[in-house]
Amino acid sequence: MTPLPPGSRIGILGDGQLCRMLALAAARLGMAVHVYGPDRDGPAHQVAASSTVAEYDDQAALADFAASVDVATYEFENVPAETAATVAAGTMLYPSERALEVAQDRLTEKRFIAGLGIAVAPYQPVDSAEDLSTLMAQGFGAGVLKTRRLGYDGKGQVRLKGNETPQQCAAAFGAIGQVPAILEGFVAFSREVSVVAAHALDGSFAPFDPAENVHRDGILAESRVPASLDPGAADTARTIARTIADALDYVGVIGVEMFVVEADGNTRLLVNEIAPRVHNSGHWTMDACASDQFEQHIRAICGWPLGDPARHSDVVMTNLIGADVERWRIHAGEAGTALHLYGKRDTRPGRKMGHVNRIAAPGRQSGA
Ligand code: AMP
Repeated sequence: MTPLPPGSRIGILGDGQLCRMLALAAARLGMAVHVYGPDRDGPAHQVAASSTVAEYDDQAALADFAASVDVATYEFENVPAETAATVAAGTMLYPSERALEVAQDRLTEKRFIAGLGIAVAPYQPVDSAEDLSTLMAQGFGAGVLKTRRLGYDGKGQVRLKGNETPQQCAAAFGAIGQVPAILEGFVAFSREVSVVAAHALDGSFAPFDPAENVHRDGILAESRVPASLDPGAADTARTIARTIADALDYVGVIGVEMFVVEADGNTRLLVNEIAPRVHNSGHWTMDACASDQFEQHIRAICGWPLGDPARHSDVVMTNLIGADVERWRIHAGEAGTALHLYGKRDTRPGRKMGHVNRIAAPGRQSGA
């Protein structure tokens, strides 16, 4: 691919904070960003060179959008297949529709990852309450019932002890909306980590260091880098991300979430899920690396060489969720702290309003 020169037009589907940070990174490289999303007040419209405010099923608006840009991408994995097809018919779309297809359905995703020889939690499809009762009766054990599609931040999930009665199975299947699901074995992990990495059309690969992630109420609260992983496990984590990106002929930044299981002195990594986009657990790169995840994504989709993902600082990224954002004044005055606010007007519980990156010289992070 001939690199798109500065001044090229980049289309981004989505108007949230990921899109906003992608748009800012693209602008820094001299690109003109066109944002497409339904929320007029969305964080990304505020910073884009041009905007289309329209629904994702407005095929005419999508076709106009695609015709107006040199390359298109997206900030969320639930881009409907028809939307992606319309955009891909009018311009280059990266990451590909295949990446979306794999990441949108937890069953397809598990099969794909397991098919690459990468460990995942035990899983079984569940299409009815009876399927779930049968698995319980067969001794599947403790697990997490998850909708196959449209789950995020722990939504569309129910934990099961493994001894549920048929009535309790019916209630659990009801709680996720009686939609196609999978039952995953409960993983007694010691930590959760993720690898955010860029992969280019020519196969080049630039992984960031693995991050150690802490979730609260199903939402990412904090990412710490370096993660407490021995160097061998950190290498394995990067190799897993590369194997997945290679298999998808991936173009852009990908997030790969993993569970760390430690037993008998061995460390095992199980992939939980992949995100075909920039990822919240990669926000730390904005202040701890020469090229952050947003710039890497723009570089990859524009056919530029990937930037240097090396980390120059230790860092803890903390999400500002809901009322946390009211502490902006305090964070603004903290040494070694970079404050990122998303420009959302309404503060709601559970809503990601911004984040802070606290950086320190390598090895100097308090508590790291
Ligand atoms: P997910 O939406 O799949 O990322 O799940 C949200 C969070 O729920 C994960 O980050 C884990 O903390 C927890 N979780 C998900 N699946 C499992 C599992 N199979 N075993 C244990 N915890 C899980």
